[in-house]
Amino acid sequence: MTDLQTLEHLAAQSQERPVWIRVGQLIDGESNAPIRDAHIVFNARVILHAADRLPVSQILKPDQKEPDASFDDYTLLPCLIEAHSHAFLEGAPVDFGEREQYLKQPPAMFLERAKARTRKILQCGIGTIRDAGDKHGVGLALASEAKHHVGKLSSAPYIDSPGPAIHHKGRYGAFMGEPIENHASPAACVLARVQAGADRIKLLVSGIINFKEGRVTTPPQMPIEEVKAIVEAARQQGRQTFAHASGTEGVEHSIEGGVNTVEHGFFITEEQLKKMRDRKIAWVPTFAPVQLQIDRAKDLGWDDVVVGHLKRIIESHQTMLRKAHEMGVTIVAGSDAGSCGVPHGIGFLQELQQMERAGLSPMAVLQSATSRSADTLAFPEKIGRVAPGHRSRFILTRHDPSKSVANLMREKTVIFDGQAIASPDSLSTAGL
Ligand SMILES: [Zn+2]
Repeated sequence: MTDLQTLEHLAAQSQERPVWIRVGQLIDGESNAPIRDAHIVFNARVILHAADRLPVSQILKPDQKEPDASFDDYTLLPCLIEAHSHAFLEGAPVDFGEREQYLKQPPAMFLERAKARTRKILQCGIGTIRDAGDKHGVGLALASEAKHHVGKLSSAPYIDSPGPAIHHKGRYGAFMGEPIENHASPAACVLARVQAGADRIKLLVSGIINFKEGRVTTPPQMPIEEVKAIVEAARQQGRQTFAHASGTEGVEHSIEGGVNTVEHGFFITEEQLKKMRDRKIAWVPTFAPVQLQIDRAKDLGWDDVVVGHLKRIIESHQTMLRKAHEMGVTIVAGSDAGSCGVPHGIGFLQELQQMERAGLSPMAVLQSATSRSADTLAFPEKIGRVAPGHRSRFILTRHDPSKSVANLMREKTVIFDGQAIASPDSLSTAGL
C-alpha cells in the first residue's frame, strides 16, 4: 500500500473506531517548535491524543498495543484558517474584462462557482474560512449550510460570513457592500445584518490604495464616532467586527472605534501597533493583493513608477509586520482571496509565504494561520490546534513546513472529518 492508500484506509476506519498513528513530527499550532516522534489518536470527529508519549489504553480500540501506522518522515499540522476571503469572487483572473464579465452573472451562478471551489480549497489544507463580505448572499448561503455541520462530519471547510460589508453610498465597496444610508441608524444597520444571518460585522472604514500615486488618496469613509456606534451595536448582538482599513487615518479610525481586527492596514504606524497590542486588536495584513500587482505588473499595465510605489508599500508593510510580531500584536493570516489575481486556497498559501518573506519564522506564520486565528476569531468549534477535543482536521506532508511554509504548496494529504484528500505537488488555479 502507498502512504496515501494507508491514509485513505485509516481515515475510513476513523469513522468506526479510534485510529492511532505515529508521525516524525507534530506542529500542534501552539508550540514554538515541532514535537518529534508524536502519537496521534483520532476518530472521524475529534482528536483524542496528540503528544510525544504513548496514548493511554482507554482511548484505543480494545487490545491495541501498536500504532495503526507510522509516518516517520511526515509532519502533521492542523488544517489552516483563511481569515479574509470573498467567496463570491473568482480571484485567479487578472484581466479586467474577464473580471467584469464574471460579475455580470446572476447571483445563483456565484454560489455555484463558490461551491465548486470547496474541494480545491480543502486540498490546499484550509479547513476554516472567514468570508469578508458580499452583497449577493453567497457567503451567507455557504455559512448557513456550514452551520448544519457544526459538531458533525462535513465534506467542506467551515465558513462564516458578515453578509454585505457596511459602507457609505458613493464610496469604496459598492461591489460587496450595502450602504449604511439605507438604514435609520448604525444600530439599525447592524441589526438588519444580524437578522439576515451575519456571523460578524464587516465595515469599510477607508478607501483603497491608489497604486498610481502610491498612497490612499481619499479620507476615511467613516468617522471614529460612526465606527464606535457600529462596534457597540455589534457587541450588543454578540458579533465581532472587522474593518477594512488602509491608510494611516483609516487605520486610526478603526482602532479608536474599537474593532476586533484591522484588515489590510497598509500605512499602519508603530504607535498604532502599540495601541492594537494594548487593546487586543488583531491585524490581518493581506500582502497578497498588493504583491500581485508587482508580480503581474506587465499584465496590469503598471509602469516602473507604479512598480516603485508598490515595492515601497510592500517593504514598509514587511517592516511593520516584523515590528508587530516583536511587539506582541496578534497577527492573523488572511489573503483577501477573490480580489484581483488572488486565487482562493492557493492565494492563502502564497500569503503565508509573503509573511515568511517579511521576516516571520515559519512557526510564527503557521501559528497565525492556526491557533492565533482560532483564538481571535472565536469559531463555534475547537479548531486550529492538534490537541485533544479539537476537530480531526489536519495536514500530513513529507515537506517540512517548519523549514519554510512554501513547503505547504508541495504534495500533501489532508485528513478532514474521516476523509483523506490527496493534494498533488501543483494545483492549478483554474476556477479559484
Ligand atoms: Zn477583502
